[in-house]
Amino acid sequence: MRFIADLHIHSRYSLATSSQLTPEMLDLWGRKKGIAVVGTGDAIHPKWFDELKEKLIPAQNGLFQLKKNLIHNEAAKYGNPVYFMLCSEISCIYKKNDRVRKVHNLVYAPSFSSMARLQKALSKIGNIASDGRPILGLDSRDLLEMVLSADSEAVLIPAHIWTPWFSVLGSRSGFDSIEECYSDLSDHIFAIETGLSSDPAMNRQCKILNRYALVSNSDAHSPENLGREANLFDTELSYSSIMAALKSKDKSFIGTVEYFPEEGKYHLDGHRKCDICWEPQQTKKYKGICPVCGKKVTVGVLNRVAELSENFTQGEISQKQIWHSVTPLKNILSEILQVGVNSKKVSGYYENLLHKCGSEFNILLDIPLDELRKTDKLVADGIERLRSGKVKIKAGYDGVFGSIKVFG
Ligand SMILES: [Zn+2]
Ligand SMILES: [Zn+2]
Ligand SMILES: [Zn+2]
Repeated sequence: MRFIADLHIHSRYSLATSSQLTPEMLDLWGRKKGIAVVGTGDAIHPKWFDELKEKLIPAQNGLFQLKKNLIHNEAAKYGNPVYFMLCSEISCIYKKNDRVRKVHNLVYAPSFSSMARLQKALSKIGNIASDGRPILGLDSRDLLEMVLSADSEAVLIPAHIWTPWFSVLGSRSGFDSIEECYSDLSDHIFAIETGLSSDPAMNRQCKILNRYALVSNSDAHSPENLGREANLFDTELSYSSIMAALKSKDKSFIGTVEYFPEEGKYHLDGHRKCDICWEPQQTKKYKGICPVCGKKVTVGVLNRVAELSENFTQGEISQKQIWHSVTPLKNILSEILQVGVNSKKVSGYYENLLHKCGSEFNILLDIPLDELRKTDKLVADGIERLRSGKVKIKAGYDGVFGSIKVFG
């Protein structure tokens, strides 16, 4: 069965997230988007863990579903109920080889009992209740060991691996390879999350990454942002099949749905406050020093990928993973209507389209253009341009999101 999964989001217990992040709303928005499996996010956080345990029922496949009596009264208007996968992001801050490292890791488990074991172990390391994404003084390698001993089926995936400040390969506080970070346990890493600022084409230049499945997730901080990046599978709907697909090099993991990498907020180099945005060549020319404030610029993902690609030229053969570059449907509607993306007008237009054409992903990826054109010619033109990559792009840098214009 072909389906879409978004396996990294946050709950309302994480900092700077929407109060709308409840299991009920995640089920509703998963349906609107056309996502079959949504990561719960924050499953280590005691309050969210308890809420999930109370509101979800096991679906007998390592995944969970919202209890029937809790389903939102509008949910029936949209597609199938969502399956949840228990997961959490952990922020590890520690010293290794004389440098401070800050690495975000995603952890997954097939049952509440195994997540509870991990929760108990982590509660001895630091405070797991202050933030939905706990910040712990814990070596990523040791976290991986704890994950594996909580459940033999539990999995760790390094999060948004290129983000300058908080990732395994980030330019500011990461490492130069996956092995350097996870040491003797590196073989247990089989997938990596590439983040919003890079796409598979960029990642595949970096041959040290060829042996990993490249996953993409939304890292959503509100229900509406679900699926801004996601994964495409063609396998059974179960925890073990999803993990097996990522481990295998076959077609059960089809690939990803991606932002254009320029849309991410760390694509190019620069300083937001100093209004400096540079391509990697300019950064090289200025030796990485901002001419306005005299400090080092934030080196973005494009530059960092190139740097690590030069270091390692040996590698295995690439996998044949495909990807679709997209932008959220509401961005296109906002361009058509010439009003803000969060306006009531755009919301109304969006709901109306879903009602006529199915889920957002169906509209972005699957619906034949002829069929869409019968419903709405302008939207069909926009989707046609999007699918063929005919878009105008302004790249993001130093925390500033990039932008995509479909009509220009
Ligand atoms: Zn993160
Ligand atoms: Zn996150
Ligand atoms: Zn500056």
